[in-house]
Amino acid sequence: MELHLLCDGSFTLDKSLLVYMKYMGQPYSAAVKPLLIKTPDENILVDTGIGELPEKNMKLYNVRRKAGENLKTQLATHGLKPDDINIVINTHLHFDHCGNNTLFSKAKFIVQADEYKYAFTPDRFQQSAYMRELFDIKADYQLIHGKHKLTDDIYILPTPGHSIAHQSVIIKTEGKNYVYCGDAAPIKENLERRNIPGVLYCSHKALKSIDLLKTIENAFYIYSHDNEQTLI
Ligand SMILES: [Zn+2]
Repeated sequence: MELHLLCDGSFTLDKSLLVYMKYMGQPYSAAVKPLLIKTPDENILVDTGIGELPEKNMKLYNVRRKAGENLKTQLATHGLKPDDINIVINTHLHFDHCGNNTLFSKAKFIVQADEYKYAFTPDRFQQSAYMRELFDIKADYQLIHGKHKLTDDIYILPTPGHSIAHQSVIIKTEGKNYVYCGDAAPIKENLERRNIPGVLYCSHKALKSIDLLKTIENAFYIYSHDNEQTLI
């Protein structure tokens, strides 16, 4: 099994959106980091990045890409085309995690049923995070309920709070459990200091999810937007 942290560019947001009630007024350049998992049987992608947002949103979030920082090019450097991806796991359906879903017409998409349902009619305070054109597409969505064993080595763990039914991914390798936190812990501080994200569906659940991730033994954590962690 091979793991590769990809980069689909970066975008600017107020750092308080990553850490609740801290850093107000401080811009943060958030990296967008899907994870490629190559197994002998399957090519799995965890999250699909931010893609090409509608122009007004691109400007609002100042999406930037260095040469090669787009998903197609990133996959090509690992010898893959979008059609080679068999499985996509969306941690949740906020725009910066499903922005390239349309690229993967051959894949099945693993999403929590409650997340998918909510994405169509979010509450007012989560509306700007869901962009229907990115996820309401002709795709093979396989909606799951709670914990899920994808393969002998790859597990999906519900970690709600940031969104209604967010999920994280655990990849077991010899001696190490890689944990793709997603936005349950977008940067290192969320986990290390138990500081919940600033974008919340439920603060109480967000903290429980962080504490759950912290119980995983021999864990190597991957933070979805931490711009200091670009390789694993
Ligand atoms: Zn995000």
